Amino acid sequence: MPTLGIDLGGTNARAAVVDAQGQILASTKLALTERSPAAVVEVIAQAAASAMAGAGGVEVRGCGVGAAGQIHRETGVLAVAPNLGWRNVPLGALLAERLGRTVRVVNDLAAAAWGELHAGAGRGAHDVYVVFVGSGVGSAIISNNQLVRGAGGVAGELGHTKVVPGGRRCGCGELGCLEAYAGGHNLIAQARELLASGRSTVLAELAEGDPARITPVMLEHAAEAGEPGAREIHERAGQMLGMAIANMVTVLNPARLILGGGVLMHCPGIRRYVVEGVQALSSTTAREELLIAEAELGDDSGIIGAALLA
Ligand SMILES: [Zn+2]
Repeated sequence: MPTLGIDLGGTNARAAVVDAQGQILASTKLALTERSPAAVVEVIAQAAASAMAGAGGVEVRGCGVGAAGQIHRETGVLAVAPNLGWRNVPLGALLAERLGRTVRVVNDLAAAAWGELHAGAGRGAHDVYVVFVGSGVGSAIISNNQLVRGAGGVAGELGHTKVVPGGRRCGCGELGCLEAYAGGHNLIAQARELLASGRSTVLAELAEGDPARITPVMLEHAAEAGEPGAREIHERAGQMLGMAIANMVTVLNPARLILGGGVLMHCPGIRRYVVEGVQALSSTTAREELLIAEAELGDDSGIIGAALLA
């Protein structure tokens, strides 16, 4: 029987009816106009009703939600959801009441990793490490077909491992996190600092002098054009990611490393640093069984994974 998957972002909620093989039968995306929990639950319910109607009114069994933030396992409470400005919202219980079915809430990355494991680049593997570098840096660990959650449910926070003691301040409030150097938001922030320093003519040209236009792809182009300041930021981010992921491969010994997220998809130079870093720096024995693969499901990985977890 199909299940319902929900992908809850900061600006949209998307609902999909997904079959047991991980195929999307129908989906609906609606904008969140208001961010109060009651309003968001209502939008999710509307999206779910529309997706179920689109799938021909099929009966669905359970519902899985992938949401950005820290989530208490078992209870479905969003402890911290920065995109929505929520603290301690019992989303699982609110949705279960509104939808009249059981609801499981997981972190969006865990959902995406689960989707890739069962319907994407992880098929056939039992030990998988999934890394997404988009606006932030996140990862999920699957060991012996189980998602590793940790005691507090927040295992896998690769972006907040420290790479420079006392270094750049991260969005999480701490200093020297990997994400503060290599996350998309922070690549842009560092490029803007470079632009403001007047040391970058290529970046200034690419962004037409407007810091608001800068993207990680522009930074990569400026680095590849040989601009020293851009190259420094780009190389440092790539090397830090490569080393951090290599160390995780050494610790976890996965059969498959799946790479995804906007920065790794659209910045082949950074991706190259990561692959070369993993090949050069992970331990030889941990690398013997390793296959490096690209995430296959794109934006659908989270919603498919959430549905399959339901
Ligand atoms: Zn951090």
